Amino acid sequence: MEKELIKSFTYENLLVKVREWGFKDYTAKQIFSWLWQKGIEDFSQMTDIAKEKREFLKANFQIKVLEREKVLTSRDGTKKFLLSLLDRNKIEAVFIPEDKRRTVCVSTQVGCPLGCHFCLTARLGFKRNLKFYEILDQVQKIRKDFGQITNVVFMGMGEPFLNFEEVMKAVGILSSDFGFKIGQRHITISTAGILEGIYRLAESAWNVKLAISLNSPKDEVRSFLMPINQKYPIGELIKSLRYYVKKKRRRITIEYVLIKGLNDQEGDALLLGKILRGLPSKINLIPFNPFPGSDFSPPSEKEVENFASLLSLHYPYLITIRKSRGRDILAGCGQLIGR
Ligand code: SAH
Repeated sequence: MEKELIKSFTYENLLVKVREWGFKDYTAKQIFSWLWQKGIEDFSQMTDIAKEKREFLKANFQIKVLEREKVLTSRDGTKKFLLSLLDRNKIEAVFIPEDKRRTVCVSTQVGCPLGCHFCLTARLGFKRNLKFYEILDQVQKIRKDFGQITNVVFMGMGEPFLNFEEVMKAVGILSSDFGFKIGQRHITISTAGILEGIYRLAESAWNVKLAISLNSPKDEVRSFLMPINQKYPIGELIKSLRYYVKKKRRRITIEYVLIKGLNDQEGDALLLGKILRGLPSKINLIPFNPFPGSDFSPPSEKEVENFASLLSLHYPYLITIRKSRGRDILAGCGQLIGR
């Protein structure tokens, strides 16, 4: 029989529990930081907790949440972790080492319900939301193998804003001093444009970075690529982003996957610049990552640069071209399927 999961308690829950067990309040903090700050995997390592207490915990709880099934390493150093959940569902997390940053890209759902046509994850369909501790354990597993993590991006499998509560609990522990100690400005949540999530984040006290997968300035094209656009069309989306930026006084990131012949034309670049006018932001252009069975292809390098320079005619902010990492191991954007 599986024991109860000690990692399923938030700090507040754990505090209630330790009182129930007759432990002192400070034990909650001790247990919590052993689990999430130090990342131990066995109760016997909780050396500042009395032995009988450790034995009690060991008899009643388990620490394990994720099992590492496989690690693939890309030519560029990116690593893709295939992880198995206790219910045997599979998810993926990606480790992206750079000169100054060591980023983990986490999944928030098993599969994804949004069905974007250019994204391989969509083909899995949707299985379930991840719990906060299943999100955190992805970072933990990678940290254990590769050391301290500086940045976390919620850009793996799934739509974070369809799992808002658990995602924000995970953010809380990532940024906590007795959790992972990763500053909120080093945490990015990427959304396909779920308006409720954007407004909720705008009203909240969280200071994470927000990224939006826009992918076309035209409703017809965007609805074709991303069916969610029928529910939340571009006009409404931009309105929510203006509200967000005003409320938070922070710029946002616009992600734009460039697909040959679909959203990479001169008219797209010019219109994109126009609809974003006056919205403090930066644009990240991502050449489409091909995968088996997709009909799309990326524009050439020259066409991407051309798009960027046309865009800059109307768009006064920073434009970057994302060098997708880990494509040879299907660890690039939109290539995660948990296999
Ligand atoms: N659901 C959220 C989080 C996933 S982020 C969101 O949509 O933002 C995944 C990012 O990868 C998105 O910006 C998406 O537009 C991009 N993407 C998906 N498939 C891709 C592909 N085949 N090539 C390049 N980028 C892709």
